[in-house]
Amino acid sequence: MKKILIVGNWKSNKTEIETNEWFQRFTIYDLRFTNKEIIICPPFTLLSNLKSSILNHKSFIKLGAQDISPFDEGAYTGEVNGKQIKEFADYVIIGHSERRRYFGESEDIIVKKIEMAQKYELTPIVCVSDIKQAENYTRYTLIIAYEPLFAIGSGNPDTPENANEMAKKIKEIIDAPVIYGGSVTSQNVKSFTQMPSIDGVLPGKASLDANEFASIIEKA
Ligand code: PEP
Repeated sequence: MKKILIVGNWKSNKTEIETNEWFQRFTIYDLRFTNKEIIICPPFTLLSNLKSSILNHKSFIKLGAQDISPFDEGAYTGEVNGKQIKEFADYVIIGHSERRRYFGESEDIIVKKIEMAQKYELTPIVCVSDIKQAENYTRYTLIIAYEPLFAIGSGNPDTPENANEMAKKIKEIIDAPVIYGGSVTSQNVKSFTQMPSIDGVLPGKASLDANEFASIIEKA
């Protein structure tokens, strides 16, 4: 049975109170599947809170950050570095299209971030919207998230066939798991995860609701 990765990207959402409510609701569900790996990527401010909840409840959830500094520790105001992230998380999303678009992240910066993640033994989940971007990462050990721009936050997902074709093409150049992101919901998740070249999903909006996220995990 293939391993299915489900990566919830909370983006810039939730306070501590909201996170506690989410966790309480989520833990009601019995979701221990041996073939499913569940990763939540909250804002940096919530990593500590979630780490404590996970330890206290012996939860199977793994944690990821949504970004990483391209620099090591030092005089880089506002940045959170790999050594700091590693205290809380095992994964990090890198090169999300929102970071490329709103924060001008270049390929050069993204590669530096991947190298920092590797230095601190964080698994990079690198987002790409086309095969050309993927070509820049062929020499790294990572997870690729194929996220077509039109599908992110639009309610208009790619077709499972097209996403599978892209995942297949990416796997021809990178030996890595490839997950799909872009308007994933509990209604459409299975159509993606049942595809032979797709190893999981990266829901954004749908991961904010504990019931919906639990349903995605059940149905994936
Ligand atoms: C994402 O967070 O990368 C994403 C695909 O968001 P959404 O599921 O809301 O489209």
